[in-house]
Amino acid sequence: MDEASEANDTSDTGAVDDRTGGADRAEAVRQVSVIGAGTMGYGIALTYAMGGREVALYDVASEALARAQRNVRSGLDTLANAGRIPESETGVIADRIAYETDLEAALQGSDFVTEAVPEDAELKRETFEHIDEYAPSDAVLATNTSGLSITAIGEAVTDPARVLGTHWFNPAHVVPGVEVIRGEETADATIETATALLESVGKTPIVVERDVPGFIGNRIQLAMAHEAFSLLDRGVADAATIDRAVESTFGFRLPASGIFEKVDQSGLDVQQAVTEYLLPDLDRCTEPHDALVDRIEAGELGVKTGRGMYDWGDRSLESINEERDRELLALLEAYESDTSG
Ligand code: NAD
Repeated sequence: MDEASEANDTSDTGAVDDRTGGADRAEAVRQVSVIGAGTMGYGIALTYAMGGREVALYDVASEALARAQRNVRSGLDTLANAGRIPESETGVIADRIAYETDLEAALQGSDFVTEAVPEDAELKRETFEHIDEYAPSDAVLATNTSGLSITAIGEAVTDPARVLGTHWFNPAHVVPGVEVIRGEETADATIETATALLESVGKTPIVVERDVPGFIGNRIQLAMAHEAFSLLDRGVADAATIDRAVESTFGFRLPASGIFEKVDQSGLDVQQAVTEYLLPDLDRCTEPHDALVDRIEAGELGVKTGRGMYDWGDRSLESINEERDRELLALLEAYESDTSG
């Protein structure tokens, strides 16, 4: 056991005394399992390992685990180069992650399980049935679904009170916020454990009290993206121009003011006036736009195929991700200085 885990080793049973609050809840979580080692799974595993937890990362595909191991290594290098972790600790952190192809072994002794398999309701259900079978009966069970019903996923297990959503944003080891979603049957203690654990590993938990499709972040993000595709279809501007418009104007302001602080700054009367004349012209199409569908039909899926909204040439996924992570880590510094006071 490493030093960080030893520091957390305050309980033989992992049981939590409700009177002692969040720190004890977080410390009681010593072993974490992540089910699904794709885009999200490796970053979630890496975050928990950086937070001193022992992590079992499971996937049905051994190639996915090999890729996850490479991504963890390069994620650690980027974090060390950005001064977020000491270079000398990268090996210790990497060694906290065990890569598993045996689900039972991955769940043995787990205090907190995060499911990150593909976004398919039936697959999530089946996966939770297996988790229910092998994980300890008092483990908290979280799904990283982007917007499926937490309540429906919880129905796959014997005790849905211990199921909740923890919705991370890509790249999970960099983006600070994680939505913590309450299903209809989720117990308060489950929310409290997840919140305390996420805080203890440096994340900003955002509790979403109602299990609505897409939660908060993806509802707002999707509304914005849908309108942007509509602008493309209407020939208002090309993709690069729309991105530049977002990044240099309201997108630049968002990390500092969010939505409602900005509304207060411009005035609610202004907000009402703009809503009244603009809303009727906003996109109402309930299907994906041609600008999206046509590219998919042409096999242009984004960085993973080398072309999507942009041409990525023959750059490797690793180098694209590294550049993205470097830019985001610079923004993270600013976010932390804004939220620390
Ligand atoms: P992904 O396709 O990159 O990875 C999924 C992994 O799950 C793959 O490695 C696959 O081999 C593995 N898998 C498939 N069936 C499995 C099973 N039965 N048991 C264990 N592993 C299995 O997907 P992703 O982008 O990491 O998304 C995972 C979840 O996270 C989805 O619910 C998705 O909606 C959500 N999510 C994704 C993002 C994102 O930006 N990609 C952001 C937030 C949330």
